[in-house]
Amino acid sequence: MGGTTAILGSLDADGRFEVLSELRTTPLAAPVETLRQAAGIVGDSGRGIGAIGIGVAGLVDFDGGIVLKAPNLPTWEGFAVREEASRLFGVPSVADNDCNVFAAGAVSLGEVPSSGLWIVITFGTGIGGSLVLDGAIQRGRGQAGEVGHMSIQAEGGLACPCGSSGCWERYAGREALLAYYRDSGGDPEDIEPRSIADRARNGCGSALEAFDRLGAWIGRGLANINNCFFPHGIAIGGGLTGAMDLWEQSARRRFRENAMLPVWNVVVLEAVSSTGALGAAVLASRLLMGREDAP
Ligand SMILES: [Zn+2]
Repeated sequence: MGGTTAILGSLDADGRFEVLSELRTTPLAAPVETLRQAAGIVGDSGRGIGAIGIGVAGLVDFDGGIVLKAPNLPTWEGFAVREEASRLFGVPSVADNDCNVFAAGAVSLGEVPSSGLWIVITFGTGIGGSLVLDGAIQRGRGQAGEVGHMSIQAEGGLACPCGSSGCWERYAGREALLAYYRDSGGDPEDIEPRSIADRARNGCGSALEAFDRLGAWIGRGLANINNCFFPHGIAIGGGLTGAMDLWEQSARRRFRENAMLPVWNVVVLEAVSSTGALGAAVLASRLLMGREDAP
């Protein structure tokens, strides 16, 4: 469940995943209406379902099934998503944040190894993070992994919708790239990272400089993560990874400067838009198996 699209899919007992529908949503739609719409599609498909899993773009209390914060989905804040989903669908349900379900999907596809400590990071409008240990999402007391909100700029840091300032996602996310591009004299009408990447590949100085700055901030954040966790690897996904050729060099340079033991093991996930829905279904299926990581 994202700010503009919700992807509805089903996972059957043989592990086959199928996308049933892509719903257009608006950030201001009532969450219960979106769930009703989804329940209608599931009903029409004639499938008997065992459990429901929902990933929400926001901070989700996994045990309580409540959305705590959702700057991109304001009507979902405070919504008891697990309780409402169980009531509407008549089956047990599980709710988690969007990066965790994406990570669970990537593990089930074999893209994130199911052994060792892996940090999954999505670079997009914001920066999402998940801690994966031996294939299982680690949540701490519920919301572990919010690496996008490491406060990384102490003095005069940019305000963040989370309420803090200087957060990593304000310096290494989509909006940051657009700001760097404007700062270096790029066309302010150009507001798509993809087109700025095309310009950079064609030698545009402003675009190259923007990706260079972005990369330095990405590298600094990755170094912090490496210093804190020294994971077996960092798996990255999201829109900005498509331009990694343009920021990797400067990210590696900054990483070498800031990491205590600069072992760069960053892999790019070949994820598709339904990976999160798959992961939500995987978490739901664990409810039925009585796995201990179920709420
Ligand atoms: Zn923040």
